[in-house]
Amino acid sequence: MSDGTETPVQVMRAAAAAGLDVVALTDHDTLAGWDEAEAEARVLSLGFVPGVEISSRHRGVSVHLLAYWPRADDADLLAMMARTRDARVDRAREIVSRVARDYPITWEAVAAHSESTETVGRPHIADTLVAAGLVSDRDAAFSEILHDGSPYYVPHYAPDVLDVVRTVRAAGGVSAFAHPGADGRGRVVPTSVIESMARVGLVGLEVEHRDHSEGQRERLARIAERLGLVPLGASDYHGAGKRNRLGENLTSPQALAALEAARS
Ligand code: AMP
Repeated sequence: MSDGTETPVQVMRAAAAAGLDVVALTDHDTLAGWDEAEAEARVLSLGFVPGVEISSRHRGVSVHLLAYWPRADDADLLAMMARTRDARVDRAREIVSRVARDYPITWEAVAAHSESTETVGRPHIADTLVAAGLVSDRDAAFSEILHDGSPYYVPHYAPDVLDVVRTVRAAGGVSAFAHPGADGRGRVVPTSVIESMARVGLVGLEVEHRDHSEGQRERLARIAERLGLVPLGASDYHGAGKRNRLGENLTSPQALAALEAARS
């Protein structure tokens, strides 16, 4: 329901086909895919974890905070994500107006590429550039035009990461830091921020992720051990939108049990 190229139902079918036992759906800043994903997972006898990837920031650095099992009717959590989704629309319009100075794309075309989604983002602008034949795929769109250091780049409002960890906890959810070492995408926060997050209730830390080098995985595993955080593996699957394959990294049953035990 955000920047994946498959529907929640298709993602559940792909997860079953990949041989997974349990899968989490974590769209950006929306819970809108939960119901249909859960219904399909039940049909497939697949364990389902309802989740979301919440945009947040620490001193201007983007942090993606995963929340598993938050209450779907928690007013503070819903208001937090609604504000971010609204800000994303204005920000996407601004990026498009900048890109349009050099490449022939329009906001209407981007809106058409994101009409079935709840959360608009740079991947939809990338899809528009691909459809116009201006770049070959999303990867090329990001590396040539849409990356964080580009003159076309505009950040969007996102809440402070410590507030998000607290809000997720208050909503009965379990939070985890997504791809904390993915420095190929842009700036990442220092270890001291992971420590601060742990103090206010962070539960999990992604260790096994495509965007982490072997050295980063070792470093993050040590940090998780030291801070008592649950080490997680993530596919970060986006359908055809990224090269990531479903199940390319896994979370152990013990880690899943530890996450579940942290639900309040
Ligand atoms: P945004 O949330 O609008 O700032 O866009 C960032 C999102 O774009 C990330 O969460 C990824 O899902 C996606 N993304 C980042 N880099 C790439 C890439 N090279 N290829 C495809 N998708 C990407």
